[in-house]
Order: sequence, then C-alpha cells, then structure tokens
Amino acid sequence: MQLPKSRRRQKLREKKCQYPGCGKIFFGIHISKYCPEHRQDRYRIRKRTKPEDVNIKNQTFKHAYTEVITMVMDCALEGCEHQFEVKIYPRQYIYPKYCPEHRNEYKRIRHLQLIGRDDLIEQMKSESESFELDPSTLEGDDVDVVDDVA
Ligand SMILES: [Zn+2]
Ligand SMILES: [Zn+2]
Repeated sequence: MQLPKSRRRQKLREKKCQYPGCGKIFFGIHISKYCPEHRQDRYRIRKRTKPEDVNIKNQTFKHAYTEVITMVMDCALEGCEHQFEVKIYPRQYIYPKYCPEHRNEYKRIRHLQLIGRDDLIEQMKSESESFELDPSTLEGDDVDVVDDVA
C-alpha cells in the first residue's frame, strides 16, 4: 500500500490555546487552535453556522477548478446590483453570496427596508432565527465557515 504523499511537513510550534479562558501554551501545527484538552469533542466550540444555515449567508458553488481563480459574483440580495470578487479554491464549494457590504445582516435589513421589501426581511429573520448572532459575525467575515475543512 502506498502512503499518500505527505504535503508540506507541518512544524510544531508554540501555540496559545484559544479556548475562552484557557490560554495554555502547547505545541501544535500552525492551524491548531486549542490545547490537547480543549481539542476534545466536548469542548468544541460550535460554529454558529449549522449545515442548514450555510446557505443563508453563503452559497454552494459546485465547480471543478483545480487551481485558484477569481470570479465575479452578483450580490444575492434583492435589489442590490453590486458585484464582488470571490476567490474560488479547488475542492471548496461554500462561498459568500452577498457583496461585502451585505454580509452584515443589519445592512441587508436596512437595504430591504429602503426598497420596501419588508416581506423579505421577515423571511430572512425567520431563516436566521436558528443561529445566534454573536458580535463577531456583524462584520461579515464568513470565511471561517470554510477553514473548518482543515
Ligand atoms: Zn485550552
Ligand atoms: Zn449587496
């Protein structure tokens, strides 16, 4: 049996556990965030995006690109004409569906108010009820949905 070719060798380095209130120093590869204790499943910090929530703020974009390309996408928000560039990565299929400005839920609501689509606001709110808003989501950097894959 052939072992899969190891990718870049991962160097262990001193890391600080990012579990709230821990801060323990441990050795880990660069993507490790938690000390061995907090890496256990019961401590795992649940991502605010459950699988079914992914499509609220993101879209699944099936593609077969084998190298990183940049694509221009249209903001999925009703009435927004903005386009934004997205880097498409191989084997990665979840991408933002709103322009950078509208990745913020409050801005989407404001926009919908402006164009008089309160019905869509209601709809959006009922869809998003299942996840808690935490302040860090408000700046709309949803890319962390993606680094879960690693
Ligand atoms: Zn820890
Ligand atoms: Zn937009």
